[in-house]
Amino acid sequence: MSDHADPFLNLIDGQRVEAASGAVREVTDPSTGTTFAVAPDSGRGDVDRAVAAARRAAEGWADTTPAARAEHLLALADAVAEHRSLFVSDDSRNAGKPIESVGDEVDGGVDSLRYFAGAARVVEGKAAGEYLTGYTSMLRREPIGVVGQIAPWNYPLMMALWKIGPALAAGNTVVLKPAPLTPVSTLRLAALAAEVLPPGVLNAVAGGDEVGAAVVGHPGVDMVSLTGSVATGKAIARTAADSLKRVHLELGGKAPVVVFDDADVTAAAGAIAAGGFWNAGQDCTAATRVLATPKAYDELVAAVAAAAGKLVVGDTSDPATTLGPLISGAQRDRVAALVDGRSPRTEVVTGGAAVDRAGYYFQPTVITGAEQGDDLIQQEIFGPVVTVQRVADEEAAVRAANGTPYGLVASVWTRDVARAMRMSKALQFGTVWVNDHFPVTPEMPFGGYKQSGYGKDLSSYALEEYTNVKHVMVSLR
Ligand code: NAD
Repeated sequence: MSDHADPFLNLIDGQRVEAASGAVREVTDPSTGTTFAVAPDSGRGDVDRAVAAARRAAEGWADTTPAARAEHLLALADAVAEHRSLFVSDDSRNAGKPIESVGDEVDGGVDSLRYFAGAARVVEGKAAGEYLTGYTSMLRREPIGVVGQIAPWNYPLMMALWKIGPALAAGNTVVLKPAPLTPVSTLRLAALAAEVLPPGVLNAVAGGDEVGAAVVGHPGVDMVSLTGSVATGKAIARTAADSLKRVHLELGGKAPVVVFDDADVTAAAGAIAAGGFWNAGQDCTAATRVLATPKAYDELVAAVAAAAGKLVVGDTSDPATTLGPLISGAQRDRVAALVDGRSPRTEVVTGGAAVDRAGYYFQPTVITGAEQGDDLIQQEIFGPVVTVQRVADEEAAVRAANGTPYGLVASVWTRDVARAMRMSKALQFGTVWVNDHFPVTPEMPFGGYKQSGYGKDLSSYALEEYTNVKHVMVSLR
């Protein structure tokens, strides 16, 4: 198997190809702002060919046994694991990640693929039964057909693997579109898939937002799955309404971290610093919106600010670096505008500005004094910015925590079991952690409430999302 996907090419019908027009987009290293590769800048015709290939492959793939699909997914997982160091370097360079942080993402993506290889073999309908006299009912879970999957830039490989695992395991074929800024690891994945999957089962088409729109609007696509922004999720849901194709949306978050007076404040501060500044805060689960009750507040603010001060800003290829750049100049400017536009009543405890060096770095930042209606609290910042708000009590904490349009993840920090139980019921989020913030596992569902979207990633629930349920009713007469 080749060690080099370069030149980075689309995958259509098992063939690695350029965009039909020959057009390419430059791929940038956000730690320097310089171009290091090119990738296809695909058009509608490329999407048409990819969808046609996925359609041709759909029946055959749906007819394979779960065991055969599992073998293919395990082979792909092995191929990714074998090329781990290349994927680490791809996503470090293309997404501006500190090199030491990327291995976990590759491993997590591989693990999810292996989970879905196993899960493919235990998909089942309910046991057959007689619910009307004289009839036996049974349920079949069937693939939906061709799935369009649209990925974000913050975890390019891991999100691609999270997405294709359940779709392929359930017997669907896929047209995968990486984010415009981060196509490299996805196209390397596609190069490996060309060697282990039947032609047309997985197709990858790189390009701009219009490529995503072409996938969503295509009559040959039966379902669309997006990880990205709320605005894009709404645009996709609107387009998909025309054909009523199924939509699966993971749209980011604004995670509250609720720290009560009785909590282990040191542990909470450690988790906030680890989870709020991880990936430079470009994470839909980022621990960025801290709510602390009065006795925990001062100690927590000091501890989080101290931890922020210990982060090492530097070259992403340096193993000592713990904070990399933002994905682009536009993203850095967006974060700066939110910080600069803060209310005068707020205080910047540490950070607050771009880092004076090449690339798109922003200082790790802690801000206090923001109020519920402020943009800093209501908008997903997607940068290394943590806010800490003071809340009076449990009731105020619930109100503030639930008081944004998002509902992806939340955490609650307390030693009081009854309070932890009350909070986990009251918090309107798809995941609630108690005394931690961040861990995910392929066996458990991941997905939002409210404007964080609908549809679960990971777990048997994701497999269900990618299947249709058919009721078969047999007359016994
Ligand atoms: P985005 O939603 O614009 O892009 C995500 C993906 O959707 C990309 O592949 C993009 O090409 C595609 N896309 C864009 N418009 C489309 C359309 N009309 N039809 C189909 N596909 C389309 O997100 P972004 O610009 O990468 O980031 C903007 C913000 O989104 C971030 O600041 C952050 O708030 C949020 N975001 C969330 C996540 C997450 O994990 N949920 C990831 C990345 C970004």
